[in-house]
Amino acid sequence: MRNKDICPLFRRCGGCDYSMSYKEELEMKTRYVHSLFSYHCPTYETIGSEIKHYRNKVVASFGYDRKGRIISGLFIKGTHKIIEKKDCPLEFEESAEILRCIRHLMRSYGIKPYDEDSFKGDLRHVLLRKGHKSNEILVLLIFGNDACMRKKEFANSLRDMCPSVASVSYQVNGEKTSMIVSSSPIKVLSGKSYITSDLFDLHFRISSSSFFQINASQTEVLYDMAMHMASLSGKERVLDAYSGTGTIAMIASRKAKEVVAVENNIDAVRSAIKSAKENNIDNVSFVADDASSFIKAEAKKKEHYDVVFLDPPRSGSDERFLSSLIKLSPKRIVYISCNPETQERDIRYLERFSTYRIICIQPVDMFPRTEHVETIALIEK
Ligand code: SAH
Repeated sequence: MRNKDICPLFRRCGGCDYSMSYKEELEMKTRYVHSLFSYHCPTYETIGSEIKHYRNKVVASFGYDRKGRIISGLFIKGTHKIIEKKDCPLEFEESAEILRCIRHLMRSYGIKPYDEDSFKGDLRHVLLRKGHKSNEILVLLIFGNDACMRKKEFANSLRDMCPSVASVSYQVNGEKTSMIVSSSPIKVLSGKSYITSDLFDLHFRISSSSFFQINASQTEVLYDMAMHMASLSGKERVLDAYSGTGTIAMIASRKAKEVVAVENNIDAVRSAIKSAKENNIDNVSFVADDASSFIKAEAKKKEHYDVVFLDPPRSGSDERFLSSLIKLSPKRIVYISCNPETQERDIRYLERFSTYRIICIQPVDMFPRTEHVETIALIEK
């Protein structure tokens, strides 16, 4: 099935990069990873994902159509013109109905779409998130100003109309930028301040501002593969570097003796500590630090780790981290990456300055229809 056949907005919307069949897309992703890594090691075929409704996070902005009806969708790149989006085949299924209810309630409550040119109006954007397995939905209303008086009633009515909505909060973002969520405070209007999302048997709290994987069921596939490569026996001491909200550390903790997780975003570390408590995990310690500084200090203290996971941002790791990793000398390294090019650069460094060799690389598609592909590399001496 070709993407343009299922979505009339292909090209105009900009959310999808590819219109080829999904089989061709996966083959292309495999070829791309192969072209980068084939001279190092065997490269496996890309593991495909469910395509329909895989995105558990949806953002919409508001405007009017030619007949003056309120519409929701997204801005055409570089303009303030809205393209109406009714049923996106990639976004979670209930999102279309929730947005329809929001548009309906905007009319009833006299809440106007915010105009990005005149800076007049009320509701600027909406962020929706759906919890994996819990199916709870979180709604963040982003207003352009604080003039709207009936926000609480509006939020309660929305929850009456859409019972799966467990949390409605709001933020005032009057900034003249295209950023959707600003740094101003987020206040709860109705329901809880968070929703729950589950990976395997672990529960994670997700608020409007916390990071969580967009394609949750495929995240289980990704982590399953990472754990398989790590082949933990229960006796190991493990390091999870660039640990985010601690998902990999907590999953590994079930199969290892002890896990240390390091992450430089203090909010992510705080929510990781909370989640570990809620899941009764007591063999993980979380460190808020720069991963390179931390691993350098660990290597200097001659700390021992059997397995190191690293999952850095798109820019990859750095020489400070990698040279200390060599000194730390774990038996096994599992390198997860959202940018195979920086991952290849880092692995080339390891291979050049140590006896570590990449054993294999597994691409996993986390973002069907986009050019992104995630990869997991197993590295041993
Ligand atoms: N492993 C996590 C998060 C991976 S995203 C997961 O799967 O959910 C990469 C993470 O690296 C982000 O949380 C980011 O805040 C963190 N990060 C970026 N630079 C860092 C640095 N220099 N030191 C420590 N953490 C860093």
